[in-house]
Amino acid sequence: MEHKLTVYNTLTRRKEIFKPLAAPHVGMYVCGPTVYGDPHLGHARPAITFDILFRYLTHLGYKVRYVRNITDVGHLEHDADEGEDKIAKKARLEQLEPMEVVQYYTLRYHKAMEALNVLPPSIEPHASGHIIEQIQLVKEILANGFAYESQGSIYFDVNKYNSKYNYGKLSGRNLDDVLNTTRELDGQEEKHNPADFALWKKAQPEHIMRWPSPWSDGFPGWHCECTAMGRKYLGEHFDIHGGGMDLIFPHHECEIAQAVASQGSDMVHYWMHNNMITINGQKMGKSLGNFITLNQFFTGDHEKLEQPYSPMTIRFFILMAHYRGTVDFSNEALQAAEKAMTRLMDAYGTIDRISPATSDTELPDFKALCYEAMDDDLNTPIVISHLFDACKYINQAADGKIQLDQAQKDSLKSLFDTFLFEIMGIKEQQGGGSGREEAFSKVVDMLLEQRAIAKANKDWATSDRIRNELTALGFEIKDSKDGATWKLNR
Ligand SMILES: [Zn+2]
Repeated sequence: MEHKLTVYNTLTRRKEIFKPLAAPHVGMYVCGPTVYGDPHLGHARPAITFDILFRYLTHLGYKVRYVRNITDVGHLEHDADEGEDKIAKKARLEQLEPMEVVQYYTLRYHKAMEALNVLPPSIEPHASGHIIEQIQLVKEILANGFAYESQGSIYFDVNKYNSKYNYGKLSGRNLDDVLNTTRELDGQEEKHNPADFALWKKAQPEHIMRWPSPWSDGFPGWHCECTAMGRKYLGEHFDIHGGGMDLIFPHHECEIAQAVASQGSDMVHYWMHNNMITINGQKMGKSLGNFITLNQFFTGDHEKLEQPYSPMTIRFFILMAHYRGTVDFSNEALQAAEKAMTRLMDAYGTIDRISPATSDTELPDFKALCYEAMDDDLNTPIVISHLFDACKYINQAADGKIQLDQAQKDSLKSLFDTFLFEIMGIKEQQGGGSGREEAFSKVVDMLLEQRAIAKANKDWATSDRIRNELTALGFEIKDSKDGATWKLNR
């Protein structure tokens, strides 16, 4: 590979050159949604961040196996070891089968991801479909002496593990920090130590999602699924594990402990985490009740929204920030994103209308600059700023201020095709279907042709009327020596 992609590894706290364990193959695991509610803006960020990584690695020629799970069991309220299962609670409240809840929200999630042009992963395993693998994992940890049984449940022995390995190496917390922040919850008396976490929970009589195991009828602890499914589909050692920063502790810390306690070594080479989306500085999340669903953004139907925002506006808004920086939601920021994206799309459409001539201008090597930005830990805001620079040249050429030749036109087009569309995954907005857009463009072109004929016949009344009426509809008409061009001011 000629490109030196660097990624920030949360585990080592620095940017590292990305070297796959078995190039050209890359194994990548990302924590997917817990499907008990509509996907919101907070779900869009990890999905889009790791979609960019998936697209870029694929673009560089790697063969990526991308696994993103569906959590449909074992994720208890408040991310704790006690309390009701999030899915089961929703099912009880709405009088549905838990798997009806799962099916319903999984489909809604897929639909929203498709609208955002997030590519589907290679494998999307469900936690409930991998109970056997999770029981196997728990057996191995028990056999190695890093877990114990207590009243039918199995807990991970954090103290014992920490005496041999380093619990907290991902999050940078030590065991004392963990103990100080552990909430006092019912059922903690089953644990030897409050820092211990559940690997298997015995189901209470009212608990409907349950499976037989050597220890009790019950269900796996939340952290088991990703370790068990990552290993099943990507092997004992794989390249990338991703997710939101809010998962670093306890979820990913526990995943590392489970992997090391079962197989004696780390499973994951690069840990990558996207930052959060905030509203007024607070994390947006379902459990906090301050979220706006993706559908509400698409329709504008929410008190905090001044207008609807298209899926591509949401995607572009997220890409305007580096994935490790925070993004604060506001209408102003989304409107700015919408405007910026429209400018890029308009410039792209303008490339075709430049008449090639002998070049009088040297263009910067935009492709090299964009690759450099992507290689620098997926720096999409820098890529976008280079595309804006390219826009200036496009608009100047369209206005006849500079001259570009055919090769330069082609390279500008391929710059946008590669970086804006293929890698960043922006696509033409569908204002009721691209066929309609195309037909509508042709009608405007036809009117301008009629106007050119009228002008040639010195029929100024007709020519002015066409121009004025198009202007009144919001079209900006520009006359030049090569004829008229137009754009729609939104
Ligand atoms: Zn996970």
